[in-house]
Amino acid sequence: MKIIFDEAATRYGDSQHPEGPERLLRTVPHLRKVLPELVWEGPSIADDMTLLLAHDEAHLARLRQPIDFDLDTPYYPEIDQHARRAAAGALLAAKSARQGEPAFSLLRPPGHHAKRAQAMGFCYLNSIAVAALNALNDGCERVAICDFDGHHGNGTEAIVTGNQRVLFASIHQYPGYPGTGKHSFQNSLNWPVPPMTDGEVHAGMVKEALDRLVAFRPELLLVSAGFDAYVEDPLLNLRLEAEHFYRFGTWLCGVNIPVAAILEGGYSNELPRLIESFIRGWTED
Ligand SMILES: [Zn+2]
Repeated sequence: MKIIFDEAATRYGDSQHPEGPERLLRTVPHLRKVLPELVWEGPSIADDMTLLLAHDEAHLARLRQPIDFDLDTPYYPEIDQHARRAAAGALLAAKSARQGEPAFSLLRPPGHHAKRAQAMGFCYLNSIAVAALNALNDGCERVAICDFDGHHGNGTEAIVTGNQRVLFASIHQYPGYPGTGKHSFQNSLNWPVPPMTDGEVHAGMVKEALDRLVAFRPELLLVSAGFDAYVEDPLLNLRLEAEHFYRFGTWLCGVNIPVAAILEGGYSNELPRLIESFIRGWTED
């Protein structure tokens, strides 16, 4: 198992913002300590040509303008470079998976709310959509995306809907931010989860989603791994426990398809332990 990480991803942001550098600053030493067998690798910076698969030129230019995108999604100095690094992490994770080694990209900012021409919801560039579309250009016939972050992956959905070589599934709290994801349509499958749903019922929906994705016979499975559906997460009212994320990992281990995951949300103090559980499930026999 490869972990994609770069210290630079911890050198921006605001500790008062839920999506702050502490998320990685606490997770990285924890994983190095409890899972010493992990292989760590640094990403590059995604170039314009690759990003333009999922975004437009005006959006790439907008990321360089020092103006906040919305209340949740501030401008930070060099946010353009940080988001490009996170996209490169997703690209590298996908490449590693296709070469036979599963990989988890442990970078920030997250990406799944970012649309083709809009940053929102702590997300600036849609790393997973970039990785999916790049894989299609690079010899994959079909790619599946499983988004178990507790928020709807609205940006990913908006970018991949209509592309019949991609199947997208999101399991998320509804009603909840960003307010979309109530219904499935075309190649976008949505499992709206009511607030306070029992964790076992919620996990059953994730399994159902994964089974639908596997039946699509993708050559690559990309996972938007967010950990804010955890019972103690401050941003949502869902009830998954660490053992559920462990189970998600074991399911990925059993799909017999190259799998790459990227970090999306997860804002509780337990984030390091939740990521550990997920990776343990994914890597333990
Ligand atoms: Zn989220």
